[in-house]
Amino acid sequence: MIVDAAGIPDQTEMVADVTIVGAGAAGIVLALELAAAGLKVNLIESGAPRFSPRAQALADTPHLDPDVHPPMSECTRRQIGGTSAIWGGRVVPFDLVDFDERPYMPSSQWPLGQGEVLPYLAHACQLLKAGQPVFDIRNIPGINQHTIVPGLPDTHVQSSQIERWSVVDFGAMHERELRSSARIHLYHGLTCTAVKAPAGARVIDYVQAHTFSGAMLRLKARRTVLAAGGLNTTRLLLNSDENHPGGIGNHSGLLGRFYTGHISGRIAEVHFTTDPAKTVYGFDRDPQGVYIRRRFTFTRELLKKERLNNIALWLVNPDVCDPAHGNGILSFAYLALSSPLGPRLASEAIRKAVVEGEVHGSVARHLLNMLRDLPRTAWFIPTFGYGRYLASRKVPGFFQPSASNVYPLHYFAEHAPNADSRVTLADDRDELGMRRICIDMRYARQDIDSVLRSHALLDAHLREHAKGELRYLTSDPEAYVASHLGDGYHQCGTTRMSHTPADGVTDPAGRVHGLDDLFIASSSNFVTSGQANSMLMILVLALRLADHLKRSAVRA
Ligand SMILES: Cc1cc2nc3c(=O)[nH]c(=O)nc-3n(C[C@H](O)[C@H](O)[C@H](O)COP(=O)(O)OP(=O)(O)OC[C@H]3O[C@@H](n4cnc5c(N)ncnc54)[C@H](O)[C@@H]3O)c2cc1C
Repeated sequence: MIVDAAGIPDQTEMVADVTIVGAGAAGIVLALELAAAGLKVNLIESGAPRFSPRAQALADTPHLDPDVHPPMSECTRRQIGGTSAIWGGRVVPFDLVDFDERPYMPSSQWPLGQGEVLPYLAHACQLLKAGQPVFDIRNIPGINQHTIVPGLPDTHVQSSQIERWSVVDFGAMHERELRSSARIHLYHGLTCTAVKAPAGARVIDYVQAHTFSGAMLRLKARRTVLAAGGLNTTRLLLNSDENHPGGIGNHSGLLGRFYTGHISGRIAEVHFTTDPAKTVYGFDRDPQGVYIRRRFTFTRELLKKERLNNIALWLVNPDVCDPAHGNGILSFAYLALSSPLGPRLASEAIRKAVVEGEVHGSVARHLLNMLRDLPRTAWFIPTFGYGRYLASRKVPGFFQPSASNVYPLHYFAEHAPNADSRVTLADDRDELGMRRICIDMRYARQDIDSVLRSHALLDAHLREHAKGELRYLTSDPEAYVASHLGDGYHQCGTTRMSHTPADGVTDPAGRVHGLDDLFIASSSNFVTSGQANSMLMILVLALRLADHLKRSAVRA
């Protein structure tokens, strides 16, 4: 059942088999799995069923560099369903290379291998409604053309690997199930402000939580899982420093360190020499109707030989902001997303990514593009509007073909583990008295060089097979990459998992080293960020943790 915590009296103690903090994708999936196994779960959520500015403000911090990290309001969502209410929906698995110890990338060793996560991939894809766990287009029946352009072979540079697209807002999708469950008590408007554990103890005492009406509640359970999102889970542990210097889980001084995400941007466009009509520039659909997209990727062997961070690159539309594209549909998208209606059409982060281009033209030039391209634009508006906002499987975006077979290339690369990139506690507090965080996200030379070398390798591949070439969009690609470092959407690393307490915060199951009953389900456990967006791996690890908790279940 779903309960508003506002009415619960001060000092109430609540007991369950498992307490879960945070009802985002990870928390909801864990709760449903554990309840299905017969366990009683108290799931507490700081936000409301829908967006609440007051709850959202609890996550804010002014202590960040806006050139490197967007505001927290764009990076997380405090409501039932969490950030899945605003995410993009890209579903990408971690690659084999992500689990390798790469000598050129210190601290990149996961304490588990791909074999330990693969058994959970199909279930995670199913939860995301992303179809089968097949990410090589050659293994999907009924797709005619495998690579991005015909005749381009897959060697160590590949164009047959795909991403899948999800449609899931976990709060909306599971609301009915959560309401009707007798074993799950989901309390919203209840914020965990600290985990209480005596010094030296192997188990925690309780989870302390506050309501906006001033009540302080205690949640006790045999097992507690923190699933409050990458940064907020870490913040919670840092705040739990009453008996633990630097916070619970800071035994190695690593709590809050290794904050990583991804590196993305555009420095080049691809000029293909193949038949423009045969370039697969946008989405395809698999036999289940799931949207998929091809990407350029590199094999494990090539990445290691060339000492590269993992990376994927894909074709995109020209910068919509620049009316020089002459495309009515792109101009319409620009005008719609930059109008006062824009924030209703896309989440703020996604809207900004589209309308914050390098060159902005006048509204008049965009209107002229629409007039010149009137029949296509007039057809596009209702068709895309239906597909995007009304269809049961929403189209993730739109792409425009290029008659000249020239496409900008978007890169999305791994941010190498970096102990100096970190979050720490600030002195100021939120409305419920929790100290906020300072975010100091840092990158290294390797991150920049790797993006540049990857482009050179792709260019060489296209030229070798006489299918085209890359041309740079800037005279100084290095300066561009260096000035576009930053993330905040994929919050990895700050409670990294490790075999030994000296090397991380949690063990390979997600259990905080040194404690028997406190677990973390979040991308903060990731050791590396790979070229994959975080959601699929978050769910894979949450399902794996659910199995672990079911096996070791002791009922309250
Ligand atoms: C704009 C955007 C686009 C993205 N696009 C993609 C994408 O295309 N593909 C992809 O894989 N990933 C994407 N991501 C990342 C992805 O959305 C997140 O990694 C994922 O949703 C995190 O899920 P979670 O359950 O771990 O955390 P969250 O969804 O953040 O859930 C945590 C929950 O805990 C609650 N909470 C926090 N603190 C407390 C507390 N102290 N007490 C109680 N409750 C608390 C929060 O309110 C929230 O509901 C995107 C993220 C953003 C911001």
